[in-house]
Amino acid sequence: MIAILKQNTTEPQKKHLIEWFEMQGLKVHVSDGEFRTVLGIIGDTSTMDLEMIELLDIVDSVKRITESFKSANRKFHPEDTVIKVGDVKIGDGSLVTIAGPCSVESEEQILEIAKAVKESGADILRGGTFKPRTSPYAFQGMRQEGIQLLIKARELTGLPIITEIMNAEHLEYFEDVDIIQVGARNMQNFELLKALGRIDKPILIKRGMSSTINELLMSAEYVMAGGNEKVILCERGIRTYETATRNTLDLSAVPVLKGLTHLPILVDPSHATGKRALIEPMSLAGVAAGADGLMIEVHNHPELALSDGPQSLVPEDFDKLMTKIRRVKEAIS
Ligand code: PEP
Ligand code: MN
Repeated sequence: MIAILKQNTTEPQKKHLIEWFEMQGLKVHVSDGEFRTVLGIIGDTSTMDLEMIELLDIVDSVKRITESFKSANRKFHPEDTVIKVGDVKIGDGSLVTIAGPCSVESEEQILEIAKAVKESGADILRGGTFKPRTSPYAFQGMRQEGIQLLIKARELTGLPIITEIMNAEHLEYFEDVDIIQVGARNMQNFELLKALGRIDKPILIKRGMSSTINELLMSAEYVMAGGNEKVILCERGIRTYETATRNTLDLSAVPVLKGLTHLPILVDPSHATGKRALIEPMSLAGVAAGADGLMIEVHNHPELALSDGPQSLVPEDFDKLMTKIRRVKEAIS
């Protein structure tokens, strides 16, 4: 349920109303906008008399929220959520680029790629360290050692780092990571999501390959219900009957999500298409669709990459793409 307060409501009046809701076992999320305050009331409000609340002097209107996601709902929180990572702001209307290899493979590899993407203007460095691979015989990632190499790359370039977690038991290794990624395969690992709800660190959740937009939002809700509101969403393609691309990039998810939630939304054209030649057009389309940023795989030797070489851009192509990305962003601003 949401209660929109009248413009002239005083702080003591607002506090009094919030306490009244809390006394009934409800949680209140306060969203102070430029022109109005919205109280998002979470919990069982089924027995509550909406008309009675609406009659209060300070209340402008009351509405039930029919969607199952509450904290992530834009109706609860009309303003965009901006997530700060170092000097980088995600969701403030600018365009954020996350770039780096699919997997951290060696010190030389990650440092070289980090320097290159930084020079091209990337904002955040990615690199998988715990890898969710289809085959147990495929490269599984450098694990903790890989995280240490990402930290080294951050020291060298100043770029914040993001890497994927697969198991809540590994959380201690992620203490010094700037953003924790939940991959498509773990989007509905609810115990993992609950554990990430208990920490104070941005969490990027990738859409599951056969998940609906509503399911993605419910995964965000799991993290937020635990108290961690720093959630970023990522559209990375879904599985359809089409086989020409690795997945089908659901670009309409971007404006749909923008309407439903206040959380930032990124587009990953690399896992969505699986093909180097498609990264540029789909990156530009993602920006045009209104994404808050892109996540792009870049490798200095894609032919030797231990994972996802065919979809990785070489640093020179990433550099050219950055120029075009900026032009599209300017064109729609
Ligand atoms: C990744 O970003 O490295 C990854 C494994 O992506 P996804 O979870 O989207 O498949
Ligand atoms: Mn990958």
